[in-house]
Amino acid sequence: MTTIHEPVTTTATPEELAVWPSSTTEPHPGGATVGGVSLAEVAGRYGTPVYVLDEGEVRRRCRAYRDAFPEAEVHYAAKAFLCRAMAHWVRDEGLGLDVCSAGELELAVAAGFPADRIVLHGNAKTPHDLKRALWYGVGRIVIDSPSEIARIAAAVGPDGHQKVMVRVVPGISAGGHDKIRTGTEDQKFGLSISDGYAQRAIARILDQPQLELTGLHCHLGSQITDVKPYLAAVRRMVGLMARLKEQHGLALPELDLGGGHGIAYRPGEPAMDLTRLARKVRAELTEACAAAGLTVPRLVIEPGRAVAGPAGVALYRVVSVKHTGGRTFVAVDGGMSDNPRPALYGVRYAPRLVGRRGSVDLAPVTVVGRHCEAGDVLAADARLPDDVRAGDLIALPVAGAYHLSMASGYNAVGRPPVVAVHAGRARLLVRRESLEDIHSRDVGL
Ligand SMILES: *Cc1c(COP(=O)(O)O)cnc(C)c1O
Repeated sequence: MTTIHEPVTTTATPEELAVWPSSTTEPHPGGATVGGVSLAEVAGRYGTPVYVLDEGEVRRRCRAYRDAFPEAEVHYAAKAFLCRAMAHWVRDEGLGLDVCSAGELELAVAAGFPADRIVLHGNAKTPHDLKRALWYGVGRIVIDSPSEIARIAAAVGPDGHQKVMVRVVPGISAGGHDKIRTGTEDQKFGLSISDGYAQRAIARILDQPQLELTGLHCHLGSQITDVKPYLAAVRRMVGLMARLKEQHGLALPELDLGGGHGIAYRPGEPAMDLTRLARKVRAELTEACAAAGLTVPRLVIEPGRAVAGPAGVALYRVVSVKHTGGRTFVAVDGGMSDNPRPALYGVRYAPRLVGRRGSVDLAPVTVVGRHCEAGDVLAADARLPDDVRAGDLIALPVAGAYHLSMASGYNAVGRPPVVAVHAGRARLLVRRESLEDIHSRDVGL
């Protein structure tokens, strides 16, 4: 194994811990705790792989949004990660919720989330999604295609009433990867301003007395760390609002700028500066509205990743260490079935050895999963102590968003459990998917 001789200690430096939950401590090398709970103890008690979620960090992040955007409505995007506890925390902290399916909706409502603080999104809402949304009385439905207008109006009925927004394509390219850029013309979401689809859809909504158009919506993409695309979006959206006022005398009370705020996955990476984003967006919105003679609409934002991502840590057990082709492969007991993000978007992580004091010499390693694909890589260019071996525990920080929510049943491994840690206590939120669970769905022969 090639060893990098650097004056390192195996205790994490503050810089290394910057991407971990802020409650993280490492009282001695390998003894990392999150939320006052030792990660090695969590692994021992609940097995591996396991997702550890720091309740305090989720709440702190919700509050950071409320503090940065006191005048705005902040909706947590449930698709990043949702379970009943998460819905409780988000509701407690005064946020609303974005859902994309009847499933997410039912989970939230079952947890007591008030339906009027829930927004339904989706480019292909099924009849079932719409039916459940209307049944529960969601606060808003965001219209994403012209055909939805008549469908929603019919489902609401002539005496009914439903608040809706329209998802507009602002024609802005931003986001960490092609697959998560949603503000441009050449992707499936929203209605374009440039070809007039958005304007025609709005005219049709205004013809439906049972639909109340409360505002425009856009979502530029995900993992955006620069403020500028949001300011460009504000200008485009206000431009459209001004035209709508001219044409229809319409004064829309809300403007939803979506989510997409980027976070650091590895030490030293940039993250969206919330305070700066809030200040700049507020200034741009005030100025653009003044110039257009519009009343400033109430802002809505929809963070997902930035609320849940940094609050989660994934724990894996090393199954084998193999030296081949000039590389060192550290294979763990999870992988692309619980975290498809590296395979999908080529993202990179900075895993750490926990549970024991490792060698002070670090080696470049590739942390891979257990699945039957060469692309099942969790961290392509990690550095771990050069004595890493089978049985070791590996912790992967920034694992709270788009890991479990995108998990699959590949290789019938079963999805990992979620354990909340808070104030020195650990509790199970979502149990491990068992072989029985997998068996019980297989009903034919
Ligand atoms: C995914 C999504 C979000 C959240 O995106 P993040 O990158 O997790 O902040 C917000 N709004 C809409 C409409 C989305 O599709």
